[in-house]
Amino acid sequence: MTVTRTQVGIVGGGPAGLMLSHLLRRAGIDSVVVEARERSVIESTNRAGILERDSVRMLVDTGVSDRVLTDGHEHRGINLRFDGVNHLVNFQDLIGASTWLYPQTDVFIDLANAHDRDGGDVRFGVQDTDVADVTGQPRITYTDAEGTAHEIRCDILVGADGSRSITRAHVEGHTPYFKEYPFAWFGIMCEAPPSADELIYAHSERGFVLASQRTETVQRMYFQCDPHEKAENWSDDQIWAEMRARIAGQDGFELKEGPIFEKTVLPFRSFVCEPMRHGNLLLAGDAAHTVPPTGAKGLNLALADVRVLAEVLERHFGGEDGALDEYGPRALRRVWKAQHFSYWMTSMLHSVDGATDFDVKRQLGELSMVVGSERGSSYLAEAYTGWPED
Ligand SMILES: Cc1cc2nc3c(=O)[nH]c(=O)nc-3n(C[C@H](O)[C@H](O)[C@H](O)COP(=O)(O)OP(=O)(O)OC[C@H]3O[C@@H](n4cnc5c(N)ncnc54)[C@H](O)[C@@H]3O)c2cc1C
Repeated sequence: MTVTRTQVGIVGGGPAGLMLSHLLRRAGIDSVVVEARERSVIESTNRAGILERDSVRMLVDTGVSDRVLTDGHEHRGINLRFDGVNHLVNFQDLIGASTWLYPQTDVFIDLANAHDRDGGDVRFGVQDTDVADVTGQPRITYTDAEGTAHEIRCDILVGADGSRSITRAHVEGHTPYFKEYPFAWFGIMCEAPPSADELIYAHSERGFVLASQRTETVQRMYFQCDPHEKAENWSDDQIWAEMRARIAGQDGFELKEGPIFEKTVLPFRSFVCEPMRHGNLLLAGDAAHTVPPTGAKGLNLALADVRVLAEVLERHFGGEDGALDEYGPRALRRVWKAQHFSYWMTSMLHSVDGATDFDVKRQLGELSMVVGSERGSSYLAEAYTGWPED
């Protein structure tokens, strides 16, 4: 067995783990990241795509990459579509903020490249990860692709290992706050031009549709489906017919269609683990919380967590007693706001089996209130573009 000694051992090399390690290196704190998947697999797995204003700043200001500013697309608002008409919620006019469409795959590529450039220790393709002694001197053990066993001894252990976290189980006595939804999202990637300047969040009695985007020639779209739906059971024609039926309206708006090259069913749940710390183990990102994708908060929350975590770790290693105690409560304030926003967007836009005419008309009334009032639209705009740093 090889043994490595480091200050911070990080399980998980997604956005949370890699960004944390990058921020720590800038602060002169060494870390080792272990990641179960191969780099090429993560680079080609489509996930989130919308970055809040502060997430973009973080990538640029901390020297990860400027590429987000050249290859990303600024979005100055979103369309809420209901009763067959698009209603633009213009973030710039309302609050002077934008979001950026920059795929998570690109965020990962930029972070991994920054680690290569700066000499970060990131170990991809590890197996059988385990952790121990989280209240003393924590250890991470794993096996590499050649079958060699490794141990990492650290002062602080960070669980950034996503929604199926193995580290979370070591937060003794935690409360798992959980909400299941009776639907999922059917996600597609297709070759087509964008359907509109801004993303479209569409309410219809047949269910929700999101016309998101990726590039000038590739689009990401979703429609609400049964959680047990099988992606392979849907032909391209069936998918477009369903999307057309949900988008149809008096304004004659149509989605731009094209060949579909990826179909996935995304699970849909809200989850928070409290507290986010046990002894010398701290959780970050999806390991500590997941949100339904309707508010586009998952990736942004992961980055916001590690901004706070890097700051308190710097103070901790600088000798400040009690700095680590601040992390969970500060991170959780934003997490619960994001939980509420994601839940609110979800319940306002999705249809539920057994919904009555009253339920549908109430949703339409709520959507009218949001788009018909500057304060209502600003509430959405502030949440969507991201709250100020904690
Ligand atoms: C399939 C999918 C699609 C999504 N789509 C959207 C979307 O459309 N819009 C949106 O806003 N959000 C979406 N999300 C959410 C968003 O991608 C996450 O919130 C974001 O990735 C969180 O970053 P993270 O670093 O906390 O976790 P992750 O990105 O999940 O990273 C965790 C990493 O830990 C690694 N890991 C796990 N277990 C171990 C172990 N035992 N040992 C070593 N490594 C381990 C994993 O391989 C993974 O790379 C999606 C999530 C998933 C899973």
